[in-house]
Amino acid sequence: MNLKTATRIVQRDGAPQTQRLQADICVVGAGISGISAAVEAARLGRKVVLVDGLPALGGQAVNSLIGTFCGLFSNGPDPYQFTHGIADDILRDLAAREALNYRWGGDWTTVMYDEVALSRWVEDAVYREGVTVILGGVLRRAGRDGRRITELDIATRYGDVTIEAEGFIDATGDAALAWLAGLPCREPEDGPVYGTQMLVLEGVNEDHHPPREAMTARLGEKGREYGMVRVDGFSFLFSGRGIALINMTHVETPLEPVAASARALEGKAQTDKVVDFLKAEYPAAFGDARVRAYGFPGIRQTRWIVGAHHLTVDEVRAGKKFDDAVARCAWAIELHDKPDSIVWESFAHDHVHYVPLGCLTPPDADNLLAVGRCIDADVSALSSVRVMGPCIATGAAAAHALDLAGSGSVHQIDRAALRERLYDNVDRTD
Ligand SMILES: Cc1cc2nc3c(=O)[nH]c(=O)nc-3n(C[C@H](O)[C@H](O)[C@H](O)COP(=O)(O)OP(=O)(O)OC[C@H]3O[C@@H](n4cnc5c(N)ncnc54)[C@H](O)[C@@H]3O)c2cc1C
Repeated sequence: MNLKTATRIVQRDGAPQTQRLQADICVVGAGISGISAAVEAARLGRKVVLVDGLPALGGQAVNSLIGTFCGLFSNGPDPYQFTHGIADDILRDLAAREALNYRWGGDWTTVMYDEVALSRWVEDAVYREGVTVILGGVLRRAGRDGRRITELDIATRYGDVTIEAEGFIDATGDAALAWLAGLPCREPEDGPVYGTQMLVLEGVNEDHHPPREAMTARLGEKGREYGMVRVDGFSFLFSGRGIALINMTHVETPLEPVAASARALEGKAQTDKVVDFLKAEYPAAFGDARVRAYGFPGIRQTRWIVGAHHLTVDEVRAGKKFDDAVARCAWAIELHDKPDSIVWESFAHDHVHYVPLGCLTPPDADNLLAVGRCIDADVSALSSVRVMGPCIATGAAAAHALDLAGSGSVHQIDRAALRERLYDNVDRTD
């Protein structure tokens, strides 16, 4: 057999070259909000470049094993869907692959998903829509000319890329684009909002899985004996698969590289104690369980933009409906501001709260919007509207706002036209 043996010698000639790309809309961050933004912009006929620092699409929805769509439906026994767009496609396509597990009615409706199926859905969607993707591309510089972002410098293992675009969407979760552009950002004033190291257990005996309230009580009584930090977490069963999604750790998620990496290892160490607790306290349910997967560090609220509107917890509680609403939700205030527990304030069955366009638009930039978990809100308000339903809606809203703005300003678009385009995500109730 003739095996190939020939090689050629290559050597860098001169300074490394920077590749230049041009787009109508550049989205940084490929979590659920960035995917929504990129797919919607592409469907509007826009040339889209989507960048993510990870070598995979899907952000936390896929890679941190979040596992459940929250905030997609109204509360109560007869829910309707709040957010459509890519949410419709995901729910339809994953249901066809038996990759969803609905928890209907009751006080709120959530949808568990198979993260492998979601990952393939996301890859297929951006591929089909012709989005140019740069994976493993970390945003390093945001060039600005007055009120306009002009270009972004991205570093990848294969070399540097500069992207020029008419409009930009910050879907980084940490407002990395706004931050690097020198725009004002917010951080929590009174201590951190904790993240969570998620894990998936397989081999769980579903017949013996404890009810949520009983487990919460046992965690409170016994969790500390096992060295657990957080003593009020959840275990969600994916019915029929013997799989449970475990959300029982609390870890700080600082925006500093050495500390962030150290805390990530601390999160993994916390999961060992969680597994010890579950196996010892519930041997019938978890005695034979094994860890199938650890997520990447789950990051809730770190740094976010200062927008034209700062959504407050009072506006959330009152269900204030804004003329320029772009997203809605009825998810509880779910604030992870203490190491050992969370604040949970749920809403009535007929409650709806709204996100106005101003929460997405930094006042000093004409062609930049933030989406997902880095929109402008106070710490408690954000703890509700950062769930994935509204993340999908803000992504879609940003795509439409930039489409309407063209080479003009997102602050001067026809808001009635935007509202009409976003009818399904703001006004539809079927
Ligand atoms: C542990 C945990 C459990 C949760 N549980 C639920 C739940 O059950 N249901 C629910 O609906 N929501 C839940 N949430 C909230 C929800 O998952 C997130 O708020 C949501 O997924 C955020 O989506 P996003 O697109 O805004 O950001 P992310 O998914 O965080 O995506 C941001 C992306 O930006 C990229 N990025 C960041 N900086 C840069 C940079 N400088 N250069 C290039 N790329 C960059 C990142 O790599 C990442 O992929 C949970 C959150 C956590 C942390």
